Amino acid sequence: MSVSSALNAFKSSALISWKSLGKLQQTIAGCIERSGITLHSGRVARVKIWPECAGVGRYFDFRSNFIHPSVDYVQESPLCTTLCKDGYKVRTVEHLLSALEAMGVDNCRIEVEGLNGEESSVEVPIFDGSAKEWVEAIEQVGLKVATDQGGNSCEKMIPFLIEPVHVHRNDSFIAAFPYPKVQIIYGIDFPQVPAIGCQWFSSASLDDSFYTSEIGPSRTFCVYEEVEKLRNLGLIKGGSTDSAIVCSASKGWLNPPLRFPDEPCRHKVLDLIGDLSLFARHGSQGFPVAQIVGYKGGHALHADFVRRLSGIS
Ligand SMILES: [Zn+2]
Repeated sequence: MSVSSALNAFKSSALISWKSLGKLQQTIAGCIERSGITLHSGRVARVKIWPECAGVGRYFDFRSNFIHPSVDYVQESPLCTTLCKDGYKVRTVEHLLSALEAMGVDNCRIEVEGLNGEESSVEVPIFDGSAKEWVEAIEQVGLKVATDQGGNSCEKMIPFLIEPVHVHRNDSFIAAFPYPKVQIIYGIDFPQVPAIGCQWFSSASLDDSFYTSEIGPSRTFCVYEEVEKLRNLGLIKGGSTDSAIVCSASKGWLNPPLRFPDEPCRHKVLDLIGDLSLFARHGSQGFPVAQIVGYKGGHALHADFVRRLSGIS
């Protein structure tokens, strides 16, 4: 990447002003390797995460095809975030990206390999449905300052929202307002499933200790009565009560205990962080500094929001 293209990448837009707060870009201090069952295909996949130079950012390496997690490569798919480039697909990237973004792994190569010989599609393992496995792996290996090819450290650019912005689909919305720090407020409403009901969660900051204790461990959830429909669509083949919290409309939670009373809503925040990390480039922060209010959103709406920030829509 030339110096001029690097500077062009951080030109401020009508909505975003990129600032440096003196933080240096980081990478992991060693290699991470984890394998597990994947949620949708039900197959086993292995992920190896390698340290990478400053300025490179995070990217997937699937059969030597490099896919930078960017909204340009998001393919709309139900229930997960899928990246697709040149016919090669990496699915269910959001929980891993959430942990990397929140914990400050700004640069890394994420090698993903299907162990059942998939040709053009692979999926990141689901583990317990949260980001806990990734949080613990990053904590175990530790972080270090990333340097570029010349051995120099690089400042981490931070996107500050400078104008209010909102996107919506039906009654779901994300609205964001300029604010001096990251604040996330998220609501969900499941009137037909009383044990979930209407919940709001507010995160006062996005520092990594708050993330690791309050957001990262929250698991994905599903409604028992909808599981059969999803299976008939060829989804969640690897889903089980070990990889999600399952709630029945009539019987309540089927695999308690919950880790938090509002665990479903916290998981939406986890997903939002993963999906908004798609705004990161060249080792910058992806999540915009703003007050963000989300309501009944999902991965497609989160991607719409990133497109708005990017000036694509
Ligand atoms: Zn999720």
